[in-house]
Amino acid sequence: MEKLLYDKDCVCSVCKYNFTTKKIRTRPLRIKKREDDFNVIYKNNVNPNYYYIWVCPVCGYAATEREFNNIRENQIKMVKKMVSSKWKERDFGGVRTFKEAEESFKIALFIAQILKKSKAYTGGVCLRLAWLYREVKDPREQEFLAYALKFFEEAYQTERIAEAGLDEVTLAYLNGELNRKLGHYNEAIKWYGIALEHPNIKRKRQIQLKAREQWRRAREQHSSEKAVE
Ligand SMILES: [Zn+2]
Repeated sequence: MEKLLYDKDCVCSVCKYNFTTKKIRTRPLRIKKREDDFNVIYKNNVNPNYYYIWVCPVCGYAATEREFNNIRENQIKMVKKMVSSKWKERDFGGVRTFKEAEESFKIALFIAQILKKSKAYTGGVCLRLAWLYREVKDPREQEFLAYALKFFEEAYQTERIAEAGLDEVTLAYLNGELNRKLGHYNEAIKWYGIALEHPNIKRKRQIQLKAREQWRRAREQHSSEKAVE
């Protein structure tokens, strides 16, 4: 497992400290399973999700790699005031335990909220934390799937989600899938429909097939639920 990891040099966007964080070499990774909400499980006995959040050991600033440098002057002041002032020096740069990975997500979520990061970004962090809980069969998976869904539904209505590296078709499908997983079958059917009727669906063949399949599945689940009542 150690060989799959390497140290990435980082410069903190808040306090300018130089530190390293572990990253996974993607080439040797072998996929075991792709889940319907895009979680990927690898055969290599390693979870890249553990290292998704970068945490500065000195000031406590934390974000995903993609967003790490995306911070304005006034936001730097807010992190210093609300995070760094209470932060005790801690290094997340080694091989992370589950607890450390979980904590890195919690810190990133706290910071996302005080900085009012986009809903698409915050939803993405919640979704990955839900995947972390899923791996260890922790019931908090459901809680964080629900948070992710709330952020993603709002993002679809109010944000230019391309900026978060998403597209509308994929996000509509994902909203369907998260609703289905949470047992909201009517909502799930509605969102799969939004994905399937989107003008860009033709360019997203995989999503189109998946949305049709999962739409049928949600319909079945919905009718079998009604039969029980
Ligand atoms: Zn820092």
